Amino acid sequence: MLDYDLHCHSNVSDGTLTPAEVVDRAYSRGVKVLALTDHDDVDGLDEARARARELDMKFVNGVEISVTWRKHTLHIVGLDIDPEYEPLKNGLLSVRSGRTERAMRMSEELARAGIGGVYQGAVKFAHNPNMIGRTHFARYLVEAGHCKDVKSVFNRYLVTGKPGYVPHQWATLTDAIGWIIGSGGIAVLAHPGRYMAGKNSMGKKTMRELLVEFSTLGGRALEVVTGSHTPEQYIEFARYAEEFNLLSSCGSDFHGPGESHRDMGRLPDLPLICKSVLQVLQ
Ligand code: AMP
Ligand code: MN
Ligand code: MN
Ligand code: MN
Repeated sequence: MLDYDLHCHSNVSDGTLTPAEVVDRAYSRGVKVLALTDHDDVDGLDEARARARELDMKFVNGVEISVTWRKHTLHIVGLDIDPEYEPLKNGLLSVRSGRTERAMRMSEELARAGIGGVYQGAVKFAHNPNMIGRTHFARYLVEAGHCKDVKSVFNRYLVTGKPGYVPHQWATLTDAIGWIIGSGGIAVLAHPGRYMAGKNSMGKKTMRELLVEFSTLGGRALEVVTGSHTPEQYIEFARYAEEFNLLSSCGSDFHGPGESHRDMGRLPDLPLICKSVLQVLQ
């Protein structure tokens, strides 16, 4: 079992716990090195770092940037970033800026499908209103009795081709990696298995093209062990990491008790062929 977790969320994005609560939970579950990686926002890092210091736990500044590459939405995790680096701060501000309008359009689409008032409902679940996203919609739609859980809301309403799905233009891959590296951080391609599943997913050829481009731009690591991968995918992506000379990362992608595929900590070991990204985090 690994005692580090390099991908999780607080209520600064779409997690349910405060940054300090995330650190407490990780600590109590045996995590020794933790990165908080909120979507498109670094506002939780100070609180999390302060709590980690009290617990004498190693903390890594992180972020998870939303990217549009070709027709795909990708997530790029930045580890050991400098949250004060201006191009990163401005870049994240620009990525966040479209979220409210997108949420209003999602709400209009859902109203057309017969479910009204979803924006007002969802915004109550967004602790940070600038970071409203699909997870907040999903939580509200569960509360309002439209589906039994968050997962079902996504499948029924919030993914490509469903009534509440609104296409959106996020950061470019070049910009996201540039901001991360410019700030002194390490760029990690998050949960690659997710891009190869479901409607409009990428095939192996496109995944290879992505990994070539990601590496050329300075991307250093691939998330091999994550809450959304099966054990078969750990092996599959360990092989991609080896082929493309990338380091391997590992994180739960925890969002809240009872909601995530995996809780923090006690993550399975990386396959033996992997070189852990931990080696390059000081
Ligand atoms: P957004 O950035 O608003 O598009 O929301 C993306 C977030 O939605 C992801 O980070 C996950 O937390 C969540 N998500 C995406 N797809 C699913 C799914 N199929 N089931 C549950 N949560 C999902
Ligand atoms: Mn999320
Ligand atoms: Mn993600
Ligand atoms: Mn995530």
